[in-house]
Amino acid sequence: MEFNYTENQRMIADMIRDFGVKHIKPKMMEWDESQEFPVEVFKKLGELGLMGVLVPTEYGGSGFGYLEYVTAIAELSKIDGSIGLSMAAHNSLCTGHILQFGNEAQKKQYLPKLATAEWIGAWGLTEPNTGSDAGNMRTVAVQDGDYWVINGAKNFITHGKSGNVAVVIVRTGDVGDSHGMTAFIIEKGTPGFSAGRKEDKLGMRASETTELIFEDCRVHKDQMLGKVGEGFIQAMKVLDGGRISIAALSLGIAQGAFEAALAYSQERSQFNKPISSFQGISFKLADMATEIEAASLLTYQAADMKNRGLNVNKESAMAKLYASEVSVRVANEGVQIFGGYGFTKDYPAEKYYRDAKLCTIGEGTSEIQKLVISRAILK
Ligand SMILES: Cc1cc2nc3c(=O)[nH]c(=O)nc-3n(C[C@H](O)[C@H](O)[C@H](O)COP(=O)(O)OP(=O)(O)OC[C@H]3O[C@@H](n4cnc5c(N)ncnc54)[C@H](O)[C@@H]3O)c2cc1C
Repeated sequence: MEFNYTENQRMIADMIRDFGVKHIKPKMMEWDESQEFPVEVFKKLGELGLMGVLVPTEYGGSGFGYLEYVTAIAELSKIDGSIGLSMAAHNSLCTGHILQFGNEAQKKQYLPKLATAEWIGAWGLTEPNTGSDAGNMRTVAVQDGDYWVINGAKNFITHGKSGNVAVVIVRTGDVGDSHGMTAFIIEKGTPGFSAGRKEDKLGMRASETTELIFEDCRVHKDQMLGKVGEGFIQAMKVLDGGRISIAALSLGIAQGAFEAALAYSQERSQFNKPISSFQGISFKLADMATEIEAASLLTYQAADMKNRGLNVNKESAMAKLYASEVSVRVANEGVQIFGGYGFTKDYPAEKYYRDAKLCTIGEGTSEIQKLVISRAILK
C-alpha cells in the first residue's frame, strides 16, 4: 500500500483547499446558523468534477478511484463537515447505487447529470420506525401493469427536498424477507412523490435532511434498479462503499479540529506560557494526532481494497466505526483545548464538535458497525 499522496490526490487536495477559502469559509457559519443548503456550492463542486468522483469518464464523471475519493471528502470536511456529508451522500449513495446496479439506459440517462451536479441525488432507505432495522421497512410498492404504486414515507433523507432524483428502496415482498425489497429511481415532480418536514439538527446543518412522502406514487417498471427483490442486498453493498466515505468525512472533521486546537494551543498563554507547554495539553494533542493517524490508515486501507475489487464489508465498517469515534473524541478534546472560547461561535471548535457526532450515526451507527464486524469475524 502506498502511503504518500499520488499526484492526483495532491492536485485534488490543493484544489479543494483553494475552493474552500474562496467559496465555503466566508459563508459557512451563515449556512450553519440558517440551516441553508448551499446548492450553488454544490454546482461549483460539480464543475470541478467532485460530484462524480468515481463515475467513469464515459458517463461524464472524473473516473477516479477510492483513494482520490477519500482525499476529496476528507479535505472538504476539514473545512465544513456539512458539505462533506452532502458530497458523500450524493456520490456514494444515489450516484453510487445507479453506477453499481443501473442498466446501460439508466446509467446513460442519470449519471452524466449527477456527475456534473446538474442534478442533485438523494437516497432513501431509512424510515421513521426502521433505521438500524432497515430490512423491516413498511413503505410498499404494489405492481399495477407496467407501473409500481408506492405508498409510505422515508425520513432523514439527505437532499430529500433539493434532490432532482432519488433512489429509494421499498418493500415489494414479505416483511422480514431480505429479498422482499426493491430499488427504484424516482424523479422529482413524479405525481405522489414529495418532500416532507426538514429536520432541525444539532450539526451538519448546511446538509439538508428531510422526509420523503409517497402517496399512490406511480413509477414505471423501467425505473427499477436490477430485479424485483434485489433492493436490500444492493443497499447493503452500496453502504459497504458509502461507509468508506463516512470514514473520510470523520477523518476530515478530526483533522480540522486537531489543526485548529494545535494552532490555538501555541497562541494561547496562561501562567506566562503557551498552553501547549503544559503536559496536560500536549498529551491530549499527542493522543489526537495518533488516533487520527490510525483512523487514516484504516480508511485508506479500505479504500485501497475497494479499488482492488475486494470485499470491504468488514474493513469499511472498521474504518467507519473507528474514524467516527475518533472524530467525536478529537472534536471534544478540541473544544477542551480552546477552553471557554471553544464553547463560543467565535472559533471553529464548537462546529467540529457538533458536526462530528453525525459520523457515529449516519450510514449505520457505531453499534451496527460492531454488528457487521462481529458477524464477519465470527462466521
Ligand atoms: C443527518 C442525517 C443524514 C442521513 N441521511 C440519510 C440518507 O440520506 N438516507 C437514508 O436512508 N438514511 C439517512 N440517515 C439515517 C441514518 O442512516 C439513521 O439515522 C441510522 O441508520 C440510525 O437509525 P435510527 O436513527 O432509526 O436509529 P435506531 O435504529 O432507532 O437506533 C437507536 C439506537 O439503538 C441502537 N441499536 C439499534 N439496533 C441495535 C442493535 N441490533 N444492537 C445494538 N444497538 C442497536 C443504535 O445503535 C442507536 O444507538 C441520515 C441520518 C441523519 C441524522
